[in-house]
Amino acid sequence: DIRFIGIDGGGTKTACMIGDGLGNVLAVCYGASSSIKSNSREVVQEVLLSLIQQALALSNSTESQLEGVFLGLAGADRPEDKVQILSLLEGKLPASVVITLHNDAITALSAGTWGEAGIVLISGTGSIAYGFVPEASISVRVGGWGYMLGDEGSGFNMSQQALIAVMKQHDGRGPHTKLTSYILDQLSLTDPNQIVTYVYGQANIRTAIAVLSKIVLQAAKEDDAVALEIVDQAVKELAQIAITAKARLQQLQPNQDMSDLPLLLSGGLFSDSWFQTCFESQQDIMNSKLKVSKLEVPPVTGCYVLALKQAGIAITDALKT
Ligand code: BGC
Repeated sequence: DIRFIGIDGGGTKTACMIGDGLGNVLAVCYGASSSIKSNSREVVQEVLLSLIQQALALSNSTESQLEGVFLGLAGADRPEDKVQILSLLEGKLPASVVITLHNDAITALSAGTWGEAGIVLISGTGSIAYGFVPEASISVRVGGWGYMLGDEGSGFNMSQQALIAVMKQHDGRGPHTKLTSYILDQLSLTDPNQIVTYVYGQANIRTAIAVLSKIVLQAAKEDDAVALEIVDQAVKELAQIAITAKARLQQLQPNQDMSDLPLLLSGGLFSDSWFQTCFESQQDIMNSKLKVSKLEVPPVTGCYVLALKQAGIAITDALKT
């Protein structure tokens, strides 16, 4: 009785799914962030290995049953990232286990299209779009360059804008915003000066700041003008990322009809239906003719399914349910 493990790692949390060779999911467990861009190698190693052990234990399985582990990790895009991450697992699992590693957008897309053409747009701790047309073997990625170089419209990005707005109000050079009292309350602080100590004292700054995006959405829903502007900007940036992915696919494959291409939304921000609606009603998205929907299954499903596929197990309709 063989086992396959899929692992989906974002900037804030990591999900791990174990199942058999027939598509039966046996257990799912969660751990902290496994992004190599925001954690030390040791932390990433510990998160990944302990999730694998937990999944095996939860499903009463042994390491010797394990055939494949398929990882989709944020920040694992470049060849050098892959070498580094794979080296953390080297010698830690039986040599027969096939370990495969991709960026988290690639695995999320598989969870949404089961290998058909489409684009996935993630807005979680970070953001990215990834598009794929299997008939032509073409793929494109847009954005996702991490919190220093991009990640527009992500939880981190919106929270950073919110913190900047709070400091501007404190200085007297920005408008009053509910974000100030909401953020101070959330962090159990009393004065914006203390935010400085909080922010620069964080070991994992991405995760610590990105969680504030919930507050930005709350203030925006309550019509706070500053928060609404942050959301509006984020939605525009995300729309541009997705539309650029479609345009680049079209450039590579000029003769294919790309109207009605699925655009699958994934990540924590899109689990807020109000935010999803803001995105779907954005003018450029409305004009784009993309078939927008939320990813129905958790992205970690894509990792597990790809582990099966890697082992030559066909993805049948029965398996998709
Ligand atoms: C990372 C990407 C990732 C994206 C979405 C970005 O911060 O750099 O690798 O795909 O977040 O999780």
